[in-house]
Amino acid sequence: MAETYDLLAIGAGPAGCAAAITAAAAGAAVCLIDRAAPPRQRPGETLHPGTVLLLERLGIGAAVADGRFVRVPGIAIVTEAGCRFEAYGADDGGPWCGVQVPGATLDALLHRRAAALGVDVHMDEAAVRPLVASRRVIGARIGSGSIRARLVVDGTGSRHWLARHLSLPIRRLSPPLIAQYGYAHANDGTACPVPLFEADAGGWTWSAQVTDRLLHWTRLNLHEGPPSLRWRPRRWRRLPPAGPIRRANVTWRQCADVAGSGYFLCGDAAAVMDPAASHGVLKALMSGMLAGHLAAAICRQPAYEVQAQADFTAWMNDRAHADTQAMRKLYADFRHPPQWLAPA
Ligand SMILES: Cc1cc2nc3c(=O)[nH]c(=O)nc-3n(C[C@H](O)[C@H](O)[C@H](O)COP(=O)(O)OP(=O)(O)OC[C@H]3O[C@@H](n4cnc5c(N)ncnc54)[C@H](O)[C@@H]3O)c2cc1C
Repeated sequence: MAETYDLLAIGAGPAGCAAAITAAAAGAAVCLIDRAAPPRQRPGETLHPGTVLLLERLGIGAAVADGRFVRVPGIAIVTEAGCRFEAYGADDGGPWCGVQVPGATLDALLHRRAAALGVDVHMDEAAVRPLVASRRVIGARIGSGSIRARLVVDGTGSRHWLARHLSLPIRRLSPPLIAQYGYAHANDGTACPVPLFEADAGGWTWSAQVTDRLLHWTRLNLHEGPPSLRWRPRRWRRLPPAGPIRRANVTWRQCADVAGSGYFLCGDAAAVMDPAASHGVLKALMSGMLAGHLAAAICRQPAYEVQAQADFTAWMNDRAHADTQAMRKLYADFRHPPQWLAPA
């Protein structure tokens, strides 16, 4: 492959797909690559109602709203002080609902939409290193050659592929946090009608119904390392596990230079919060859509690039600040807040 595109989106998760779809819908020539062959099982099934609106804008709203998926009007929150239901909100049309969509299903809908808009989608194709000329990112080297593009979106997720290759600073905003998560078969009719967030002295546990047969849980210890790899929520210990128990590095962190000459960092590649934020997919879609929109505008008017970088950076910094404040507030309200919260 040695073509030149307007945009190369690396990583076909929510962020990279949103960038590719938005830019292609605006007329850009786009290539989307991912190192993994689908289906990719990943956590992140609880989609905030705002996510549903974005998926409509991306052209897959009907597929997500067709009744196949579990819809949820809010989250049950259990703390040592009691239990409450937090609704997402409501308007004249009724309560706002989030939706539970398996990660592989969402990925497949996004990939299909991108391909329908003319995006060249190449799965099982890893970006090995960025191509850089005169300090500008101009594409990526892949196993079978290279792909050149006027702009590159890094949507590779929490390993920060482009930031690491360009040695961009990554600020850590929390001590190391390792989430542990897994799935269980709900064949016996066990149900979790709304997602459940349970805080306790050691951290929190998240439980949710992904489909009528599949349950998801995540555990995060806030004061010490992760529990043993055999740990599972007590109430689901008797259920057959679906797949292995896994861990993810969810240390709060943020890249300083989320836009630069020839590139934008989107989704987890730009900033990571632990899953208690509960809107990582929303953020990935929003930042991807913004980057895709700006990339198409830069292709039409190259002189706009510097301003576009500044606009994108300001928006991402505002979001990261708001997220950090919201998470600090969430944990400060715990009966046993983590000590590392103390200095602002
Ligand atoms: C345990 C856990 C539970 C979570 N639960 C929720 C939830 O309920 N709701 C929610 O909204 N969010 C949740 N999140 C967060 C959410 O999963 C992420 O924020 C979201 O997936 C980020 O999307 P992304 O597109 O930035 O990255 P990713 O979804 O990680 O996609 C990155 C893609 O890039 C590809 N890639 C990586 N490197 C390369 C390379 N070199 N070349 C080519 N491709 C590459 C990967 O294969 C992958 O497909 C959770 C996270 C965790 C860890």
